[in-house]
Amino acid sequence: MSRSPVWHPFHQHGLGEAIPLVERAEGALLYTTDGREVVDAISSWWVTTHGHNHPRIVAAIREQAEKLDQLIFAGWTHQPAEELARGLTTIMPPALEYVFFSDSGSTAVEVALKMALGFWANRGEPRYRILVLEHSYHGDTIGAMSVGARGVFNSAYAPLLFDVETVPFPAAGAEQATLDALEAACASGDAAAFIVEPLLLGAGGMLVYSPEILREMRDICARHGVLFIADEVMTAWGRTGTLLACEQAGVVPDLLCLAKGLTGGSMPLAVTMASAAIYDAHYSHDRSKMFFHSSSFTANPIACAAANANLAIWREDPVLERVAALAAREAEGFGALAAKHGLANLRQCGSVVAAEVPVADAGYLAELGPRLREGFYARDVLLRPLGNTIYLMPPYAITEEQLGRVFTAIDEVLSEVL
Ligand SMILES: *Cc1c(COP(=O)(O)O)cnc(C)c1O
Repeated sequence: MSRSPVWHPFHQHGLGEAIPLVERAEGALLYTTDGREVVDAISSWWVTTHGHNHPRIVAAIREQAEKLDQLIFAGWTHQPAEELARGLTTIMPPALEYVFFSDSGSTAVEVALKMALGFWANRGEPRYRILVLEHSYHGDTIGAMSVGARGVFNSAYAPLLFDVETVPFPAAGAEQATLDALEAACASGDAAAFIVEPLLLGAGGMLVYSPEILREMRDICARHGVLFIADEVMTAWGRTGTLLACEQAGVVPDLLCLAKGLTGGSMPLAVTMASAAIYDAHYSHDRSKMFFHSSSFTANPIACAAANANLAIWREDPVLERVAALAAREAEGFGALAAKHGLANLRQCGSVVAAEVPVADAGYLAELGPRLREGFYARDVLLRPLGNTIYLMPPYAITEEQLGRVFTAIDEVLSEVL
């Protein structure tokens, strides 16, 4: 076969790694064209919540596709978007009264940042500084990269990134430094907003911190009138054991970013939910105060229908019980592997477990990552370690037997590399 013209994301084509061709999926399983059955232990990069090709979501997509495929959303509307916005304002914290649609986690973050700046500009008190947490990841567009950790991922683009104020990560035992830095940054008077991944920093290495610290960070922002943006693109929809991670801290943000699991992971769709204060700051007879943002596929009807089916699953199925049962099995199985192979920093947040393989060269570009990945794929398991950090984030439909295959693969691969 001639070489594919496809240019893959986060992939070094020059290394010649094999690229599996998948034709079908169901639950936690991916089926390749060469007849392999692969356990997807990372939810196809953190998006698939219930399982692949959930019948209810598939049916909703099929039904909507026959009625209305796409519609301009500036000043026009359709039933799936109306239903979804009402559904979200019912299931999410009541103070988040408004729903703005976009189509990826990165754009949900861009929208939140623009809304925060628009809030201050429209009130005639322009504030521009964004506060961020060390090791954060918020997406790959220029604004989202600007508020994320700097490193090899974005060094080539650094001249385009805007300045932010970085607050140290609240590592266990060092939380006071985080709170003090946040307090000082908020008190400076030009801080517009603080953006955080609640409880669990994903791409930064599956780092966890406590609900108490999340609560304290939220309180500091509230005291100084600094807007609090919760990026729950990865943590929402049960991943951390609750619908939102913020819930565990009793925190309600001013702006909430949702994407990945919003459609159960089936279609690209995102929302930024906003408090009335933020909406009201844009509400006026003055057209120059409107929110200047759109993308072609804003609130695509088919994607909204998929999200409505996801909400129906949440209303009717015991999703959180499933997550709790999965989390318990992961704690046991992965905990045993961590002990057996001497993995470091074992941690868990809901259905996400992680630990580090003890090696000297531990960065994202370390040789170990691709070696582990290839070892797992050779055993029909999709796992993609972050440097030397192995983590699991399976779809909730993964069976005991499939999870067993994942643990066996990890056991064998670690025995091989260590
Ligand atoms: C994945 C992710 C994003 C970016 O979402 P995309 O849909 O990939 O643009 C933003 N924030 C967090 C916390 C994420 O995990």
